[in-house]
Amino acid sequence: MRYLLLNFLLFFLFSTYSHAAKIENIRVWAAPDSTRVVFDVSEPVEHTLSLLTEPYRTVIDLKDSSIDKTLTQPGSEDKFLQRIRSATRNQHDLRVVLDLKKFVKFKSFQLKPNKHYGHRLVVDLYGKDNEDTNKIVNIEQEVTAANRPRDVIIALDAGHGGEDPGAKGPSGTYEKDVVLKIAKRLHDTINKERGMKAVMVRTGDYYMPLRRRIEKAREQRADLFISIHADAFRDRRVHGSSVYVLSQRGASSEAARWLAESENASDLIGGVSLDNKDDVLASVLLDLSQTASLEASIDIAERVLKGLKGVGKVHKRTVQSAGFAVLKSPDIPSILVETAFISNPDEERKLLSSQHQTKMANAIVAGLHGYFREFAPEGTLLASRKHIISRGETLSTIAQQYKVSTDSLRQYNGLKGDLVRVGQTISIPGSSGT
Ligand SMILES: [Zn+2]
Repeated sequence: MRYLLLNFLLFFLFSTYSHAAKIENIRVWAAPDSTRVVFDVSEPVEHTLSLLTEPYRTVIDLKDSSIDKTLTQPGSEDKFLQRIRSATRNQHDLRVVLDLKKFVKFKSFQLKPNKHYGHRLVVDLYGKDNEDTNKIVNIEQEVTAANRPRDVIIALDAGHGGEDPGAKGPSGTYEKDVVLKIAKRLHDTINKERGMKAVMVRTGDYYMPLRRRIEKAREQRADLFISIHADAFRDRRVHGSSVYVLSQRGASSEAARWLAESENASDLIGGVSLDNKDDVLASVLLDLSQTASLEASIDIAERVLKGLKGVGKVHKRTVQSAGFAVLKSPDIPSILVETAFISNPDEERKLLSSQHQTKMANAIVAGLHGYFREFAPEGTLLASRKHIISRGETLSTIAQQYKVSTDSLRQYNGLKGDLVRVGQTISIPGSSGT
């Protein structure tokens, strides 16, 4: 058994180990680029983590601990984790071994009880490099190689996930589940539109830190970021949807501040406790470069809110602003849609109805359409003018008419030669309205 240098990377001490801790459950959340293993423990537990090789495995030694439950095994789709096993050591310690599919980085931290769970020990396994990088380079190459008009890209962020369920409805619906369904429906609706392409930020039931959600949108070169949530309030009568943008100076109202705190707090529930010390500084820096995208965000938010007014009741008649961390992309317009109040029994039911989800998706897309018809980013299909070829026209007469080169027309439309036919539609480079 050979120990790596990485041995004892993390070491947590908790003074009381007179009573034995019980591992009540182990939960595994597999995300595309990480796997989270959560131990539900009866009390904080002293532990060490190490990585062993040949084959790779992470060993977690838990002092004065025991387990009396069959271990949940990871699914076959898990990119990192092969198997979990455990054994008693030195009579009262517990060793849990995570058999790995490949080399991983890992970290652990403990979480205090919240309204959903008790004490937890969290172990995160994540990849050596970002595996998405290759994919992104490919997208970029595809777009630039042909120099053809691209789609407007919309990143859809389903709030919460995995360890963080978000709000809970009176009949037990979790916000994380219903917003993922709505985001997927919106994804499919957008992808039916010419010139628009939706990408999902979170694709399954796992938690993703807020900062990572923004990064993901940037990696996909998104033109717009939409975060989907469902509201909750103590008073079950409160209902309706709201649309938020990032406020310029933190939260603009007391209620908005409260909401921003509870949405942002999910990062703590989800379990990022060590990496966010520079958040205040980072947000100040980000705010400085945000004005331009904020104007776009407000415009889009207004149009989306108008769309939602046609579907059902709205909670606030105007666009709200609050300091949501997930909206802090400096260069991507970002909005947050609180689709409805999951705490309202009637709206909880509606959120689950596929008919209502479709209506909402259509309303949101209508809002997006209105915006991008006017302000499509340059180089996108929606920004380009259309020309239908009539009898007698050639590529060079069209080029002259629009004051562009035949070369650029050819490139833009992916044409090999000069042959065009009557009735064919071609795109003219240059933004709309010029
Ligand atoms: Zn939420």
